[in-house]
Amino acid sequence: MSKVIVLTGAGGVLCSSLAKALAKQGHKIAVLDLKLEAAEKVAHDINIAGGTAIGVVANVLEKASLETAKKEVNSKLGSCDILINGAGGNHPLGTTSNPHLLEEDLQNTTEGFKTFFDLDSEGIQFVFNLNFIGTLLPTQVFAKDMVGKKGCSILNISSMNAFTPLTKIPAYSGAKAAVSNFTQWLAVHFSKVGIRVNALAPGFFLTDQNRALLTTENGDLTPRGNTIIGQTPMGRFGEPEDLISTTLYLCDDASSFVTGVVIPIDGGFSAFSGV
Ligand code: NAD
Repeated sequence: MSKVIVLTGAGGVLCSSLAKALAKQGHKIAVLDLKLEAAEKVAHDINIAGGTAIGVVANVLEKASLETAKKEVNSKLGSCDILINGAGGNHPLGTTSNPHLLEEDLQNTTEGFKTFFDLDSEGIQFVFNLNFIGTLLPTQVFAKDMVGKKGCSILNISSMNAFTPLTKIPAYSGAKAAVSNFTQWLAVHFSKVGIRVNALAPGFFLTDQNRALLTTENGDLTPRGNTIIGQTPMGRFGEPEDLISTTLYLCDDASSFVTGVVIPIDGGFSAFSGV
């Protein structure tokens, strides 16, 4: 059955791929993004491939912007059945320069060098808000359409660092842990009104956000990139397509008794102790 599916951050790498895959199943797709041009490009690609999609500007940190987007979605596509909370990411202001603090770091005066003690609370807040509040607000706005309707669900995007924090990115790790926790909380809260809530926890996918952290300009792996591949039993980064089948399953009635789960899609990263 064709559903109306709203994806936030769907102008980006991972969720644009999910939007296109869901459109191929015959669903009507609302591509939401802070960048209207990126959202419209994805919607255009879907429409010329024979699907149905609209590109809509929306800021997941502003409820009024989401309410305006919802009006457009409702009038052009209908009431929302499925919400995928894809907008998220890290920011350099919430990132330390080194994985571990060394005594000599406190004397390091190199421009841009940051220890834990230099982290900017506004940077931490930005990352926390983008990932956690940016999941909560779209849910408040779009899940109202789902209450009491059959076949509705929400899919959040968590991360590996929600299970065990990654070095250097305390804000992003904490925020994604909050997204996983919220997924379980919401699954219980919505369990009587017919809305299932689940999450994907992608492993490491090369995207614009992390390319500079994981690869050098000539495409070789950085030390961090090498560590990740060394810790990933399948020995590769994920491709956006690796997320599709689990997304289709969690958005489909085939998973009608599945709620509150966070599924790692990580080539075995979270199962590997490193030994
Ligand atoms: P991306 O940067 O390609 O896409 C993110 C999109 O979100 C961008 O199009 C951006 O414009 C949009 N966005 C940013 N702020 C927004 C806001 N305030 N309101 C609306 N849209 C906003 O990133 P991606 O790699 O496709 O990541 C998608 C999701 O997957 C994120 O939640 C990310 O944290 C998560 N994730 C990514 C990886 C990875 O390896 N790439 C791993 C685990 C989890």
